[in-house]
Amino acid sequence: MKFDVLTLFPEMFAPIKQSILGRAIENKLIDINLINIRDFSENKHKKVDDTPYGGGAGMVMMPDVVYRAYQSIAGKSNKGKAGGAKVIYMTPQGKKLNQKKVEDLSKESHLIILCGHYEGIDQRVIDKIVDEEISIGDYVLTGGEIPAMVLMDSVSRYVEGVLNEDSINEESFSNGLLEYPQYTRPEEFEGMKVPEVLLSGHHENIEKWRKEKSYEITKMKRPDLLK
Ligand code: SAM
Repeated sequence: MKFDVLTLFPEMFAPIKQSILGRAIENKLIDINLINIRDFSENKHKKVDDTPYGGGAGMVMMPDVVYRAYQSIAGKSNKGKAGGAKVIYMTPQGKKLNQKKVEDLSKESHLIILCGHYEGIDQRVIDKIVDEEISIGDYVLTGGEIPAMVLMDSVSRYVEGVLNEDSINEESFSNGLLEYPQYTRPEEFEGMKVPEVLLSGHHENIEKWRKEKSYEITKMKRPDLLK
C-alpha cells in the first residue's frame, strides 16, 4: 500500500514510523511518501497561504501551490484520474471515518492524502483533485496531519502481513461488537484474579465466554452498535 501525503508539516509524521508501522515500512508492506507543499511555492518567501476573499479570520492555503505539489506525484490529472490513486482530503466536513470505511480503503493500492492547515484550503483545488473527504470526528483540529496519521495507521492494519489475521478479525467493530476483555500474567493482580475459564484450556468454553462478554460490553458501552 502506498501513501503519498501532501502536507506543510512533514516533520509531524515522525510517530507513524515507530513500532508496528515502522516495521511494516522496513518490510516494504507500506510506503509513506511525505511531500512538503511549501517546496512548490514559487514565491521568494515560500508563501503558501493568503487572507480569505470576503474577509474573516485566518489564512487559506493557496490553490496553485497545493496543485503543483499534487502534480508532482499525479501529473496533470483531475480528480478520479490520479493514475488509479484515490485522493482524500482530511477535513472536519468529510464523512466520519469508521472501521468499515477503513477496511474499504485498505483495498486500494495507492492513496494520496491532502492535509489542510490554518483555515483550510482554497475550494477550487479541492474541487479539482479530491475524490473523497474524510473526517476523524466532529471536532476541529489545527491541521490534517494527525487525521492523516489516524487514517494511515487504521488502514495499514488491514494490509496483508502488517498484523496477524486473528488480531484484525477479533478486534472491536470487526463483527459489529466491541472486543471481550483481555488478561495476561500475573494470574492475580491487587487481589483480582483472571477469570477461571481463561485458565481452563477448554477452547469451546473460552470462545463462548468471549462471545458473551463481547455482547455484554457492547450493550453496556455502545448500545447503539446493537441496533
Ligand atoms: N475552516 C475549516 C472548517 O471550519 O471546516 C476548519 C479548518 S481546520 C482549522 C484546518 C485543517 O485541519 C483542515 O483543513 C483539515 O485538513 C484539518 N482538520 C481539522 N479537523 C479535522 C477533522 N476532524 N478531521 C479531519 N481533518 C481535520
